[in-house]
This record gives sequence, C-alpha cells and structure tokens, in this order.
Amino acid sequence: MRYYSSTNSTVSEVINPRLLDLSVVVPIYNEAESLPSLVEAIASAVKETQLSYEIICVDDGSTDGSTDILTEIARQRNDVKGVILRRNYGQTPAMAAGFESAMGKIIITLDGDLQNDPADIPVLLAKLEEGYDLVSGWRKKRQDAALTRLLPSKIANWLIGRVTGVKLHDYGCSLKAYRSELVADMNLYGELHRFLPALAYIEGARISEIPVRHHARRFGKSKYGLGRTIRVIMDLFTIFFMKKFLTRPMHVFGLGGFISFALGSAIGIYLTLIKFVFQQNIGDRPLLILAVLLVLTGVQLFCFGLVTELLMRTYHESQRRPIYRVRNIVGKDNSLNIEH
Ligand code: UDP
Ligand code: MG
Repeated sequence: MRYYSSTNSTVSEVINPRLLDLSVVVPIYNEAESLPSLVEAIASAVKETQLSYEIICVDDGSTDGSTDILTEIARQRNDVKGVILRRNYGQTPAMAAGFESAMGKIIITLDGDLQNDPADIPVLLAKLEEGYDLVSGWRKKRQDAALTRLLPSKIANWLIGRVTGVKLHDYGCSLKAYRSELVADMNLYGELHRFLPALAYIEGARISEIPVRHHARRFGKSKYGLGRTIRVIMDLFTIFFMKKFLTRPMHVFGLGGFISFALGSAIGIYLTLIKFVFQQNIGDRPLLILAVLLVLTGVQLFCFGLVTELLMRTYHESQRRPIYRVRNIVGKDNSLNIEH
C-alpha cells in the first residue's frame, strides 16, 4: 500500500510562492493595437479592489510588433510582466505559460483583444469570495457573427454541458476567475483551455457563472474560424473519457472486449454445432468471419485495457498525483503536532 500526499500543488508552490492577491493572465497573439489600452483598463479595474496584483501578458509568437510594445510596457510599469514565447503555440499553451509564472492566490484570465471588459473583474472576484473555486463569465450579449460564431457556440455549449455535467451557458468566454491551487492541479494540453471548467470539475471544484459584458473586436481579427467546431468535438471525447474512466480505463475497454468476445464465442459455438451436429459446411458463411472478427477484437480490447491500466498507474504514480482532491481538513491534524 502506498500513500500519496493529500496536499496538492506543493511542487508549484515551492517554485512559485503565492505572494500576491491576484494575477491577471492575458494571452497575446497579434494584438498590438489593443495592448496599451488593455493594460490600462486592467490596471484601473484591479486598483479599485485594493488587492496586490500583477498583469502577466504572454506573447504567443506575435508578428505584428506586439512583442516590442509589450517589452516596452513591462519596462515602464512594475505591475506588468511579459512572458514572451519563442513561437506561436496557441491559446492554451500561452495560458499555461501565464499560469506557470503567476504568483497570485487568485488568477483571472481574459482575452487580449478587449472583447472582454476588464471592468468586470471586481464582479468576478466578489462572486469567487462567495465560496467558489472557479467563476466563469457568461457573454450574455455576445458581439460576434451570428452564423459562424454564435450558432456553433450554442450547440457546443449544450453538448459540453451534457457530456461533462457542468452546465454553463458559455464555455468559450475567456474571462474567468480561479483559485490558484485549482489551476496548479489542472494539466492543459492541445486546445483544452475551452474545457477548463470541465477539467476543474474533474478536480472537484465548485463552479459558478455570472453575466459579463462583451464587445465587438475593434482591432485585428479573430484567430479562429469554423474549423474549431470539429476540434471541440474531438476534445469532448477526451474530456468525457477523462471524467469517467481516467482511473479505471479497464472498465470501458474491458467491458467492450468482454461483449465482443462473448458474442464472437456464441456465434462460434453455434457454427461448431452446425458443423458437427448437423453436418453442414460452414466454410463459406459470412457469420464465420464475423465470429473470428469479434473474438479477435475482444482479445485486443482486453489487452488494450490492461495496457491503459498500466499507463494510468504511471501517470499518477510518476508525478505522485493523487486520485482524489482534499478540499480542507477539519479538526486536529496530528501530523502538525509531532512531539520531539
Ligand atoms: N491567442 C493566442 N494564441 C493563438 C490564438 C489566439 O494567444 O494562437 C489569443 C488572442 O490574442 C486572444 C485570445 O487568444 O487574446 C482569443 O483569441 P480570439 O480573440 O482570436 O478568439 P475569439 O474571441 O474570436 O474566440
Ligand atoms: Mg476575441
């Protein structure tokens, strides 16, 4: 029996102590025109709250001069930190890079194109204080094209809600507030930033949403088109699997294998009877091929299940990742009162 530490995110806390109240993380990819007013707007919204803060702008390989503008702003202001990536990785890695260097106890994310309104930050913070781990913005009056953006997004939100069990009106809104220990527990890959609430839910977070403002893009253009709908659906499969079977993959592959093997065997027995009891020829029957296919698929799925069980153990044990999350411990904690 092996025990894992129940106090999560210790590693990242050692590297990055939570010294500030708030970190605002903004991914920037070719947003040169917006940058100066964006930083101003965030700073003035956050100053209202009297919290200690930092603004982390992650330049995701911009080619329009955003990098120089960001470097200049970060030099002039001591509340702005620029993280400049080597090339364009995409919004998810850019956000992950921002999370990695964030020092706030609370992390706010928003887009760098001024479509989200930084003036909403205090409202999100107030909601978080009510006892949530994640508060998501809901662009109730969204200012994007109806057919190419709003409709696919409506369908996607409904689907994601169904599959993940986290019913939010607007998954796509980047304006969100998180408790930083939650962010440290979530691993981001691909384009999974859209599923952060679902990932948070897998980690046992309390989630809420509030309506926020949304403006039409004033500068530059959107980095996404219709193509993302298909990617969202693919990601949905991943999330669904992770939510349900991450720690027990054998239950899904093994079950499939068992059903396939049983069906194949039943057909095989039936054909054997026909051959030996009724003395009929079975060599040219399509059922024979089906039986062989089902038995083989069954064995393969079963073996695949075993392999994924091993992978899952490696995933958790190699990084000492617990299979549960402790919210807090109440009462006397004996581990802190060791008598010498
Ligand atoms: N973004 C990024 N890297 C990319 C694509 C986008 O950092 O490869 C940033 C972009 O600068 C913006 C945010 O992600 O701050 C959202 O992008 P966009 O506004 O194009 O998405 P939309 O609002 O149209 O969904
Ligand atoms: Mg945008």
